[in-house]
This record gives sequence, structure tokens and C-alpha cells, in this order.
Amino acid sequence: MATAGFDRKTVKDVAVAGKRVLVRVDFNVPLDEGRVVDATRIEAALPTINYLAERGASVVLMSHLGRPKGKPNPAMSLRPVAQTLSTLMGGRVRFVPDCIGEASVAATQDLKPGEVALLENVRFHPGDEACDPAMAAELARHGELYVNDAFGAAHRAHASTSGVAAHLPAVAGLLMERELEVLGGLLANPARPFLVILAGAKISDKFAVIESLLGKCDILALGGGMANAFLGAKGYELGNSLVERDRIPDAAKLMEQAAAAGVEVVLPIDRVIAADMTPGVSHRVVPADAIPPDMAAFDIGPATVESIAAAAKRAGAVFWNGPVGVYELPEFAKGTIGVAHAVAAATGHGAVTVAAGGDSLAAVNAAGLADRITHLSTGGGATLELLEGKALPGVECLLPRQ
Ligand code: ADP
Ligand code: MG
Repeated sequence: MATAGFDRKTVKDVAVAGKRVLVRVDFNVPLDEGRVVDATRIEAALPTINYLAERGASVVLMSHLGRPKGKPNPAMSLRPVAQTLSTLMGGRVRFVPDCIGEASVAATQDLKPGEVALLENVRFHPGDEACDPAMAAELARHGELYVNDAFGAAHRAHASTSGVAAHLPAVAGLLMERELEVLGGLLANPARPFLVILAGAKISDKFAVIESLLGKCDILALGGGMANAFLGAKGYELGNSLVERDRIPDAAKLMEQAAAAGVEVVLPIDRVIAADMTPGVSHRVVPADAIPPDMAAFDIGPATVESIAAAAKRAGAVFWNGPVGVYELPEFAKGTIGVAHAVAAATGHGAVTVAAGGDSLAAVNAAGLADRITHLSTGGGATLELLEGKALPGVECLLPRQ
């Protein structure tokens, strides 16, 4: 079988010296009172920015942050991000207070080779999300080449992600390339057995991705609130646990599809239960089919962690998305931390391991295991849509590699 092989041009395929290069990055970072709380996404863009700057390009960065809905909103300004980026890069970043208009174009035309500017939030104008061709043309005035490195926004067809490619030659950045190589490789030709661990709050968020991955994986482990629909399909009492009762038939259908495809399904065999989610609440482990009517399951129990760890031990490749419990509370975080350790151990045995999802990565980082997982995917919705087999507009717009 052919490996996926990323089939688009990247920054490595084009001359960049002396050019103004417009780069879409995903700097949609959490802010608290004007300070960047988590710089992971900024750090993830550094290889591409440094690659271009070191080769004598002048680098114009654009991004969205939050949902300002087409109007300027000081609480969602990228100015603090420019500060953090400057610190990370040693003071070379200029902030441009609007992303379009004569003054902003003049500012970026003024950049010298190796210099970097960050434009203000593209979503301060309604034309970005509307993919307005006039907005795309305005943005394109900032460069002679377009580089898309915003994997996390690649599932959106916006002026700043795909529209701008109508006006400039468009290639992938290094982060975009790595995401598509790792995830594409996992889909096209995974080392086997291929274990998929899917959890999180709701089956409705993950139904399409489960259905798609059922055709590709060998073992499917389910946890979190999402697993309740599957346990409900088996007729288990779920007490006050979070469960989408109207999706239980969908869960039953997925179980049938798994059986037909020969996929081994690992469901929770024990759960951590409590009366509610208040911090410090008393909790205990019970078999998965013995949840009292006035209690709810907020985590998987140790026997379930053990069964997922055993599957990870055999796996050649692992994809994990979604915390298996309410990991935000220490009472219900043991399952997720256990899964993170199981995935890290699989990496240690030579498996290719990928973790994806905002909450999942927060749990991996909290457990201190970030450098023991092959790839941490920076895309939330983009990663899931890619795994569902959907085309991503931010990738489709890039030049094909001949
Ligand atoms: P990700 O961001 O990694 O894709 P999701 O957003 O799908 O993950 O799911 C994360 C949320 O699921 C967390 O807020 C967590 O508290 C919740 N969750 C996990 N297990 C349960 C459970 N048993 N009951 C209720 N909520 C749960
Ligand atoms: Mg989430």
C-alpha cells in the first residue's frame, strides 16, 4: 500500500529569499487579562517563521483569535501575542494594528529581509469568515507568496485560510506538512495493530470520526461520557451519568459495524462513581454495570485503564482523542492520566502515537508526558475532519507537487 505522502508544495519547494511572504498561522491562544496563558500554538509556528526569516524572507503573519464576529474587539487583539512571539524570537516582531488597508500594507512593505510582522486579528473584519474575495485580495497585498501553516484552521474556508490562495502562489508551512504527514500516514498505512482510543463528553461530537476510523483500526477503546451511549446500548443502568439517550441507537449501530469489520472494541468494565462533580466529593469504583440510580460515572476505573494499557502494549500505532473522565477534577483524573501513561509507554515500545484535542493535550501536558508521544496534533476540529475523510479547504488550495 502506498504511504499517504503529502502531495502539496511546501516552503522547501520554493525560493523565498528577498520575498515578502504572507503566512497564515493559528495564534488562537487563550488570553487572560491581556496575557498569553498557553504559548503552545505560538511555539508550534516557530519552525516555519524561523525557516523563512533565516533565508532572507520578510515574514508577514496573520491569524484569528476568538470570535469577534467581524468587529474590532480589544479583548481579542493579537497585540499580546506579538509580545510573546517577540520574546520567543529575541525581539524582532513588529505589530501592525489592522490586517488590511493602506497603512498596514505600507508597514509590511517596509520590512527588511529577516524581519517579522504580525497583523491584527483577521476576524475584526466580516470578510474573513465570509471568504469575501475583496478581503482576500486586500490580504494578498501583504505578500508575493502565501504560506499556510494554520493546520488548526484548515477545515475553514475563510479569506485568510483559502481565499488568499486565489491571488498568490500557495504552499504549506512546516507545521502543516508535519500534521498532514503524520495523520495522513496513520490513515493510509498504520503500523498494526492500530489502536484508536476515543473519549470525551458526547458521542454526537465524535460519531462521524468513530464511523470513519472503524474502517481503519484494529482495536477501538471507548471512554468518557461518550462511552455511556455504548453501555446504554448493552442495557447497563447508567444512573445520573451524562448520556445522550437519543444516540443510543447510533452507538448500537457502531457496535454492529465494529463486529462486521472485525474491530475489537474495549469498553469500560469499571467506573469511578460519585453523587455529583463537586470538588472533594466522595467517590468509589464499581463494576460498569452496577451504577446505582442516584450516582453518576465520572471516570473509568483501574481495571479499564489496565485493559487499555494492555491494548496499547500490543499496538503498532495509537491515536487518542478525548479525556476518559472529568479530568478537570483530581478525583476523576486518574483514568485519563493512566491512558496518557499507556500511550507514552507504547511510544517507548516503538509504536507511532498521536494525541489530539484541546482537552486531551491539556491532560498530556498536565501529566508531563508531552515529549513521550510521537505527535501532538495542534488541530481540534481540523484533525477530526481530516480523520473523517473530509477535504480541508486550507489544504486543497495549496499548489500540488508535480
Ligand atoms: P477534546 O477537547 O480532547 O477533543 P472533548 O472536548 O471531546 O475532548 O471532551 C472533553 C470533556 O469531556 C472534558 O471537559 C471532560 O470533563 C468531559 N468528560 C469526560 N468524561 C466524562 C464523563 N464521564 N462525564 C461527563 N463528562 C465527561
Ligand atoms: Mg474539548
